[in-house]
Amino acid sequence: MLNTGYMEKLDRDLLGEGMLSGEPYTLVEDLSDMGSRFGGTESEREAVEYLLQKMRSYGFDNVHKEPFTYTGWRRGTASLAATHPVTQEYDVISLPHCGSFSVEGELHYMGLGTPAEWESQQDNLEGKIIIVDAKSPHWIGRGIHRLEKYGRAVLAGAAGFIWMRDQGGFLVETGGLRPGAEIPGIAISREEGMHLIRLAKSSGDGSVHVRIETENMVEEMTSWNVVGDIPGEEMGDRVVIIGAHFDGHDIAPGSMDDASGAAVAMESGRLLARHRGRLARTIRIICFPVEEIGLIGSRRYVQAHQGELNRIDFMLNLDGAGRSGEKAVMLQAWPELLPVFKEISGDMRWPFVTDTAFGMSSDMYPFSYMGIPSGRLADISGVKTGRNWGHTIADTLDKVSSLDLRSDSTLVARIMARVANWDNWPADHKTTDEILNIIERAGLGEVLHYSNKKLT
Ligand SMILES: [Zn+2]
Repeated sequence: MLNTGYMEKLDRDLLGEGMLSGEPYTLVEDLSDMGSRFGGTESEREAVEYLLQKMRSYGFDNVHKEPFTYTGWRRGTASLAATHPVTQEYDVISLPHCGSFSVEGELHYMGLGTPAEWESQQDNLEGKIIIVDAKSPHWIGRGIHRLEKYGRAVLAGAAGFIWMRDQGGFLVETGGLRPGAEIPGIAISREEGMHLIRLAKSSGDGSVHVRIETENMVEEMTSWNVVGDIPGEEMGDRVVIIGAHFDGHDIAPGSMDDASGAAVAMESGRLLARHRGRLARTIRIICFPVEEIGLIGSRRYVQAHQGELNRIDFMLNLDGAGRSGEKAVMLQAWPELLPVFKEISGDMRWPFVTDTAFGMSSDMYPFSYMGIPSGRLADISGVKTGRNWGHTIADTLDKVSSLDLRSDSTLVARIMARVANWDNWPADHKTTDEILNIIERAGLGEVLHYSNKKLT
């Protein structure tokens, strides 16, 4: 039940202040100019201090950084050469977590890498170097993540893994493998990948042989979650979280993935901090590092706060917020919250879709794995089968719209003000077994198995 006494006044301020604010664009601009903010870089450290300083200037309480260590990765060199039927070099990059390897083998084109394709060819993959399309076909009914395709390649005994972008433009698409990556993983553009595959036509025996060489650094690193609160009043010991990762991949400024999402989290917090004293629950803003190589910041956050997770009523993740497109509140599970968000949407006079769809590829996942009611702000316009500019060198500031940033920041602030002030929040925490059950029922059991997604 929503206590609406103050909401009309709050809405007018959030919309007026939010839609006139240049602050979220400034954040994206500043974060982009620093560099990638990839784990272990100087720009990451600079971003941490910058976000702390911004949180203080917005009037957040309890502003601090929480250090943790993890197995990080630094890019070195990568090469790919065809050795049969011709000798030819291709432009490639290593995928994060790929260490140092030198392998040779016969190329095997795995197409889109759907479960059926792997099953039909699994006896024929030992020692092969697999090239697979990055596309996640819409007819499968669930996304097929890079981690799943890589995990299947490892289990099939493949010697190497080549990730071919599904969209043209000579861009290579990066993306993390997993710590201790067992076989080399590299990325190639659509154009060069298709050229390589086509060499089979001129080969007498129909085979193409390739050599992959990579040299990268795997080392222990320190990073920091950046945290600030807008303290609640009547239910101040209850917490709702607005979170987003602020790191990008090392090859780009990561302006859309995810400087934009971090800017929307920060700006919605700034707007809400103008109303401290009127919010029942504490609103916590968390900017997560090292999301791109395994949701490491958010995983470490839930590990470090085991004893107090029961105080968290809701976590909203903003990966990719601030882009154009129709927005939905996509809950991880907890259908009992659908009427809550429908009522919130009605009260806001701002129609948005609410549904449940479990996701495992961004920072809400560690929270939902721990049973915490959670969801994400999702873009539901169109059928999404690829990443567009994300994870390429083209994820740059020129793609970012100041208006979309302002629109999403006010949307998130208005939604989360209502969540923070909701009487009798109906969603309970779940046990890990219940969550594993939900994952199975969502048809994601294979993802859990092949992608190393079980958290400890
Ligand atoms: Zn992201």
